[in-house]
Amino acid sequence: MRKIAVLTSGGDAPGMNAAIRAVVRKAIHDGMEVYSVKHGYNGLINNDINKMGLGDVGDIIHRGGTFLYSARCEEFRTDEGRQRAAANLKELGIEGLVVIGGDGTYMGAAELGRLGVKTVGVPATIDNDIVGTDVTIGYDTALNTIVDMIDRIRDTATSHERTFIIEVMGRDSGELALNAGLAAGAETIFIPERDTKMKDVAERIQAGLDRGKKHSLIVVAEGVMSAEYCSNELAKYINIETRISVLGHIQRGGKPSASDRVLGSRLGAYAVSLLQDGRSGVGAGISKNELTATDFTYVRVHDKQYDNSIYLLSKELSI
Ligand code: ATP
Repeated sequence: MRKIAVLTSGGDAPGMNAAIRAVVRKAIHDGMEVYSVKHGYNGLINNDINKMGLGDVGDIIHRGGTFLYSARCEEFRTDEGRQRAAANLKELGIEGLVVIGGDGTYMGAAELGRLGVKTVGVPATIDNDIVGTDVTIGYDTALNTIVDMIDRIRDTATSHERTFIIEVMGRDSGELALNAGLAAGAETIFIPERDTKMKDVAERIQAGLDRGKKHSLIVVAEGVMSAEYCSNELAKYINIETRISVLGHIQRGGKPSASDRVLGSRLGAYAVSLLQDGRSGVGAGISKNELTATDFTYVRVHDKQYDNSIYLLSKELSI
């Protein structure tokens, strides 16, 4: 393969820039031409495709977000939009495409593969909800950001002897909430994968109060309910003053952690190797520190395994 392109799509995630840099540099190192596509699949349709040099990815490894911009593209969901995208790539002689994003991005790539473009995915989302990799690019940074925020909230919770309810991102996944809750020492964690009864939570808080505990931290994944709803529900079972905090987009931005830069670099370079080996329709990943390639169709139909032992441990440690 002589010419490939790279794009970022879906929600941005810290470490995407490291992955773009790795795709560009690995391709050039191995004697290929490499192109960047701006604004996700929009750029393919609108022909916003530009040849990259080594220097074009200089000074980006440490930056959050994605310097190629990301977008959701409705037109790419149509046959006509995808035909145009494939034709634009063909016109430039580009045979392979690396897509950096979440599982929606993979589905788009799978469709493009049916039109003859070889595609490889690189998993990047703070939600860590993609099958075929132990961890996604952006997750580690977001987790550390959340824990840092909860530590700050804890200072106020302790000083004012209050219960705080903190809403964190993750879409349908409880990964961020669960691990942030454990790392920050939250008393209660609500995640979509487990049914936690509000009555039990109220009883635990009451038991804590009875033994002299003055404050409590509750972490709630956005996929379960909002912090506000949680506060209103809790008020039905226990008469305590609560404060809510919705962390919001602070969780998505910021300097990528060293782990995310290493992961982005490894998976970006590996995606190029997969294309060179003639692979297509697969997502690059890492499992037990081994690089892996998983079929898009498998990623689509399977849910990421949830580790119940983390949940049980957090309960044991927050008695
Ligand atoms: P995140 O998990 O961070 O939101 P994502 O990659 O899952 O990332 P989506 O918005 O689901 O984000 O998908 C990104 C883009 O991929 C969509 O805007 C659309 O252009 C394309 N896409 C998603 N699903 C399909 C599909 N079934 N067919 C064609 N294109 C798709």
